Amino acid sequence: MDNESLTQRDLRVLWHPCTQMQDHESLPLIPIRRGQGVWLEDFEGKRYLDAISSWWVNLFGHANPRINAAVAKQLQNLEHVILAGFTHEPVVQLSERLVQIAPRGLTRCFYADSGSAAVEIALKMSFHYWQNRGEKKRIRFINLANSYHGETLGALSMGDVSLYKETYQPLLLKPVTVKSPDCYYREPGESWADYSTRTFAEMEKALERHASEVCAVIVEPLVQCAGSMRMYDPVYLKLLRQACDKHRVHLIADEIAVGFGRTGTMFACEQADIAPDFLCLGKGLTGGYLPLSVCLTTDAVYQAFYADYAARKAFLHSHSYTGNPLACAAALATLDIFRDDDVLNHNRKLATHMARVTASLAEHPHVAEVRQTGMILAMEMVQNKKTRAPFAWQERRGLAVYRHALEHGALLRPLGDVIYFMPPYVIQPEEIDFLVKVAREGIDAATA
Ligand code: PMP
Repeated sequence: MDNESLTQRDLRVLWHPCTQMQDHESLPLIPIRRGQGVWLEDFEGKRYLDAISSWWVNLFGHANPRINAAVAKQLQNLEHVILAGFTHEPVVQLSERLVQIAPRGLTRCFYADSGSAAVEIALKMSFHYWQNRGEKKRIRFINLANSYHGETLGALSMGDVSLYKETYQPLLLKPVTVKSPDCYYREPGESWADYSTRTFAEMEKALERHASEVCAVIVEPLVQCAGSMRMYDPVYLKLLRQACDKHRVHLIADEIAVGFGRTGTMFACEQADIAPDFLCLGKGLTGGYLPLSVCLTTDAVYQAFYADYAARKAFLHSHSYTGNPLACAAALATLDIFRDDDVLNHNRKLATHMARVTASLAEHPHVAEVRQTGMILAMEMVQNKKTRAPFAWQERRGLAVYRHALEHGALLRPLGDVIYFMPPYVIQPEEIDFLVKVAREGIDAATA
């Protein structure tokens, strides 16, 4: 097998995600033969540093020996079993451990197989809770501008990135969309906390006006990842929790991208010392091994569904692979690594190193901002640094950085013109230096 022949076969029968397939007439598809740690290797032995953790899923490297062993061991006993009416040890253990480490009060785990599905579950559960309680007028949700929650129709409705959403608009739910606390737009000299606090006034207004028809507010805590890695201060989450309580509206925290240490704490909500009513987790949950997601919720929500069958209050949502044992085994091994290896402290050192070696990029004539929350670092490429005017999207400058990085041995996959690092936690400081060099040269080439 070689790169060329696999590419040819692929392009005859596949349709790739998030891709204009015609691009592959000129853009090489990269066939990967194996992965090891932060590195991916193609059929000709060329290596690529996976700077984006393969769409933000991988935490402890490809072919991690501990997770490999856990999945292999589980494979000897049980690959899968229906979770309705049946149960198994990995899913019970995982649920016990998630309840233990999640923000307080989240005591029930409902599983699915993708982040989008976990978001659908949170939306349906919140709506259904209010129905079961007799509050039938609550049929809407509040979301943030520039948010992203997945691609299925319900989750897509809650997002606000027009690239993904616009075409499908006639099919979608209509949330009340509130200005984002995104600190890219703060005034010069204004702190993240001040800007996030100031923008909260819009949320307060929306809640005052719409609370009686709203089931829940849904947010991505601290970082709007697919929305160009835009960031905000934890104070916003604190204010939001208080306001949701005051107005009797649920809070859904979508930590699918930011959970499991990405923002510096195990869960981003911890930085605001709050607990949501629904916590959606996915991606890193299995260390990037297998598709698994979960929606955690409170006993209060659970109890609103718990009744005689005849009361018709049950949550009759299901997916075939719900709580798959292999995926749960990978998740348990991932949590073991967090428990045994002092991961969050180690990440703090890596994050400090990333900050130090990217600091001078803020001076680049076509970089408007270098921003960071924990293990997520983003550089915003612009046409005009002073006015922050972006490049015309048709110029596809980010794609030029992508191509440059591939040529030089790194997988960076910019979001538009925003280049970011969200690497596996097993990356070495020298590998971060290498990424920064590739990114800097890529930005130079793309903006020359
Ligand atoms: N929510 C957030 C915050 C995400 O970043 C993503 C995926 N990028 C999703 C939901 C959807 O997850 P999935 O792709 O697994 O459906």
